[in-house]
Amino acid sequence: MALRNITVKGDEILAKKCKPVREITPRIKEACADMIDTMKAADGVGIAAPQIGIMKRFFIAMPHVEAEDEETRNKIYYMINPEITYKEGTQKSTEGCLSVPGMMGLVDRPQKIRIKAQDLDGKEHEYEFEDFEATVFCHEYDHLEGIIYPDVAKGLMTVDEYNVRMEELRNHFGEDAEFTADEIWAGIL
Ligand SMILES: [Zn+2]
Repeated sequence: MALRNITVKGDEILAKKCKPVREITPRIKEACADMIDTMKAADGVGIAAPQIGIMKRFFIAMPHVEAEDEETRNKIYYMINPEITYKEGTQKSTEGCLSVPGMMGLVDRPQKIRIKAQDLDGKEHEYEFEDFEATVFCHEYDHLEGIIYPDVAKGLMTVDEYNVRMEELRNHFGEDAEFTADEIWAGIL
Protein backbone atom coordinates (compact mmCIF):
# COMPACT_ATOMS: atom_id res chain seq x y z
CA MET A 1 0.00 0.00 0.00
CA ALA A 2 1.38 3.36 -0.98
CA LEU A 3 -0.17 6.66 -0.13
CA ARG A 4 0.58 9.69 -2.28
CA ASN A 5 0.45 13.30 -1.17
CA ILE A 6 -2.76 15.01 -2.20
CA THR A 7 -2.34 18.39 -3.87
CA VAL A 8 -4.51 21.07 -2.28
CA LYS A 9 -6.33 24.14 -3.56
CA GLY A 10 -3.82 26.85 -4.36
CA ASP A 11 -1.44 24.43 -6.07
CA GLU A 12 -1.32 25.50 -9.71
CA ILE A 13 -1.35 21.85 -10.84
CA LEU A 14 -5.05 21.75 -9.99
CA ALA A 15 -5.78 24.64 -12.35
CA LYS A 16 -4.17 23.16 -15.47
CA LYS A 17 -5.68 21.11 -18.24
CA CYS A 18 -4.25 17.58 -18.25
CA LYS A 19 -2.72 15.84 -21.26
CA PRO A 20 -4.01 12.61 -22.83
CA VAL A 21 -2.56 9.28 -21.74
CA ARG A 22 -0.73 8.02 -24.83
CA GLU A 23 0.24 4.66 -23.40
CA ILE A 24 -0.93 2.85 -20.30
CA THR A 25 2.50 2.29 -18.82
CA PRO A 26 3.38 0.40 -15.61
CA ARG A 27 3.80 3.84 -14.01
CA ILE A 28 0.19 4.73 -14.81
CA LYS A 29 -1.00 1.39 -13.40
CA GLU A 30 1.05 1.92 -10.26
CA ALA A 31 -0.35 5.45 -9.92
CA CYS A 32 -3.90 4.01 -10.15
CA ALA A 33 -3.15 1.46 -7.42
CA ASP A 34 -1.74 4.18 -5.19
CA MET A 35 -4.70 6.45 -5.96
CA ILE A 36 -7.04 3.72 -4.70
CA ASP A 37 -5.12 3.49 -1.44
CA THR A 38 -4.93 7.27 -1.12
CA MET A 39 -8.64 7.73 -1.86
CA LYS A 40 -9.73 5.03 0.60
CA ALA A 41 -7.43 6.33 3.34
CA ALA A 42 -8.97 9.78 2.92
CA ASP A 43 -12.55 8.43 2.76
CA GLY A 44 -13.10 9.73 -0.77
CA VAL A 45 -15.21 8.31 -3.61
CA GLY A 46 -12.93 9.43 -6.42
CA ILE A 47 -9.52 10.89 -7.13
CA ALA A 48 -7.98 12.30 -10.28
CA ALA A 49 -4.37 12.15 -11.46
CA PRO A 50 -3.61 15.88 -10.90
CA GLN A 51 -4.59 15.40 -7.26
CA ILE A 52 -1.42 13.34 -6.86
CA GLY A 53 0.59 15.67 -9.08
CA ILE A 54 0.25 13.83 -12.43
CA MET A 55 -0.93 16.05 -15.28
CA LYS A 56 -2.56 13.25 -17.28
CA ARG A 57 -6.16 12.52 -18.17
CA PHE A 58 -7.20 9.70 -15.87
CA PHE A 59 -9.08 9.21 -12.64
CA ILE A 60 -10.56 6.45 -10.55
CA ALA A 61 -13.94 6.40 -8.85
CA MET A 62 -15.77 4.19 -6.36
CA PRO A 63 -19.18 5.82 -6.59
CA HIS A 64 -21.72 3.18 -5.52
CA VAL A 65 -21.63 4.14 -1.83
CA GLU A 66 -25.26 3.23 -1.27
CA ALA A 67 -25.29 -0.14 -3.02
CA GLU A 68 -26.63 -3.01 -0.94
CA ASP A 69 -24.09 -5.60 -1.97
CA GLU A 70 -20.45 -5.26 -1.09
CA GLU A 71 -19.13 -6.12 -4.52
CA THR A 72 -20.99 -3.22 -6.13
CA ARG A 73 -20.06 -0.89 -3.26
CA ASN A 74 -16.39 -1.72 -3.75
CA LYS A 75 -16.45 -1.52 -7.54
CA ILE A 76 -13.71 0.74 -8.87
CA TYR A 77 -13.89 2.42 -12.27
CA TYR A 78 -10.62 3.13 -14.03
CA MET A 79 -11.23 6.08 -16.32
CA ILE A 80 -8.39 6.70 -18.75
CA ASN A 81 -8.84 9.44 -21.37
CA PRO A 82 -12.50 9.86 -20.38
CA GLU A 83 -14.98 11.80 -22.48
CA ILE A 84 -18.47 12.84 -21.44
CA THR A 85 -20.58 11.96 -24.47
CA TYR A 86 -24.06 12.90 -23.24
CA LYS A 87 -25.65 15.03 -20.51
CA GLU A 88 -29.30 15.23 -19.52
CA GLY A 89 -31.22 17.24 -16.93
CA THR A 90 -29.84 19.09 -13.93
CA GLN A 91 -29.42 18.42 -10.24
CA LYS A 92 -28.00 20.28 -7.29
CA SER A 93 -25.22 18.40 -5.60
CA THR A 94 -23.42 18.92 -2.32
CA GLU A 95 -19.76 18.18 -2.88
CA GLY A 96 -16.50 17.92 -1.10
CA CYS A 97 -13.03 17.31 -2.52
CA LEU A 98 -9.88 15.73 -1.13
CA SER A 99 -8.00 18.77 -2.49
CA VAL A 100 -10.28 21.25 -0.71
CA PRO A 101 -10.17 20.02 2.88
CA GLY A 102 -12.73 21.24 5.39
CA MET A 103 -15.12 22.71 2.80
CA MET A 104 -18.34 21.75 1.05
CA GLY A 105 -20.02 23.32 -1.94
CA LEU A 106 -23.31 23.41 -3.80
CA VAL A 107 -22.80 22.62 -7.49
CA ASP A 108 -25.14 22.34 -10.49
CA ARG A 109 -24.57 19.06 -12.29
CA PRO A 110 -26.34 17.08 -15.01
CA GLN A 111 -28.79 14.51 -13.66
CA LYS A 112 -27.65 11.86 -16.11
CA ILE A 113 -24.49 11.41 -18.15
CA ARG A 114 -22.83 8.97 -20.46
CA ILE A 115 -19.07 8.81 -20.25
CA LYS A 116 -16.62 6.70 -22.19
CA ALA A 117 -13.09 5.83 -21.17
CA GLN A 118 -10.39 3.22 -21.49
CA ASP A 119 -9.79 0.75 -18.68
CA LEU A 120 -6.35 -0.33 -17.45
CA ASP A 121 -6.03 -2.71 -20.42
CA GLY A 122 -6.78 0.08 -22.89
CA LYS A 123 -10.22 -1.31 -23.70
CA GLU A 124 -12.88 1.33 -24.26
CA HIS A 125 -16.18 1.26 -22.36
CA GLU A 126 -19.16 3.57 -22.25
CA TYR A 127 -21.09 3.95 -19.01
CA GLU A 128 -24.29 5.67 -18.02
CA PHE A 129 -24.70 7.23 -14.58
CA GLU A 130 -27.41 9.18 -12.80
CA ASP A 131 -27.83 11.19 -9.61
CA PHE A 132 -24.94 10.91 -7.13
CA GLU A 133 -22.88 8.69 -9.43
CA ALA A 134 -23.19 11.24 -12.25
CA THR A 135 -21.92 14.01 -9.97
CA VAL A 136 -18.89 11.94 -8.95
CA PHE A 137 -17.84 11.39 -12.56
CA CYS A 138 -18.45 15.05 -13.51
CA HIS A 139 -16.46 16.23 -10.48
CA GLU A 140 -13.50 13.98 -11.31
CA TYR A 141 -13.69 14.82 -15.00
CA ASP A 142 -13.52 18.54 -14.11
CA HIS A 143 -10.18 17.93 -12.37
CA LEU A 144 -8.73 16.88 -15.75
CA GLU A 145 -9.89 20.21 -17.18
CA GLY A 146 -8.23 22.17 -14.38
CA ILE A 147 -11.53 22.89 -12.64
CA ILE A 148 -12.14 22.32 -8.94
CA TYR A 149 -15.66 22.60 -7.57
CA PRO A 150 -15.18 25.96 -5.73
CA ASP A 151 -14.55 27.43 -9.22
CA VAL A 152 -18.13 26.57 -10.22
CA ALA A 153 -19.98 26.31 -6.88
CA LYS A 154 -23.12 28.33 -6.15
CA GLY A 155 -22.38 28.23 -2.44
CA LEU A 156 -19.59 27.24 -0.06
CA MET A 157 -19.64 26.25 3.61
CA THR A 158 -17.11 24.81 5.99
CA VAL A 159 -17.72 21.20 7.00
CA ASP A 160 -18.39 22.49 10.54
CA GLU A 161 -21.05 24.90 9.30
CA TYR A 162 -22.58 22.12 7.23
CA ASN A 163 -22.69 19.74 10.20
CA VAL A 164 -24.33 22.40 12.40
CA ARG A 165 -26.94 23.01 9.74
CA MET A 166 -27.68 19.29 9.36
CA GLU A 167 -28.01 18.98 13.13
CA GLU A 168 -30.48 21.90 13.21
CA LEU A 169 -32.51 20.34 10.41
CA ARG A 170 -32.60 16.93 12.12
CA ASN A 171 -33.55 18.47 15.46
CA HIS A 172 -36.41 20.22 13.76
CA PHE A 173 -37.64 17.57 11.33
CA GLY A 174 -36.48 14.32 12.95
CA GLU A 175 -33.41 12.09 12.85
CA ASP A 176 -34.59 10.13 9.82
CA ALA A 177 -35.73 13.07 7.73
CA GLU A 178 -33.99 13.49 4.39
CA PHE A 179 -33.29 16.79 2.75
CA THR A 180 -32.60 17.90 -0.77
CA ALA A 181 -29.46 19.90 -1.48
CA ASP A 182 -31.72 22.92 -2.11
CA GLU A 183 -33.30 22.62 1.33
CA ILE A 184 -29.96 22.20 3.05
CA TRP A 185 -28.38 25.15 1.26
CA ALA A 186 -31.39 27.43 1.49
CA GLY A 187 -31.19 27.27 5.26
CA ILE A 188 -34.91 26.64 5.60
CA LEU A 189 -34.97 27.25 9.36
ZN1 LIG B 1 -12.09 16.68 -6.24
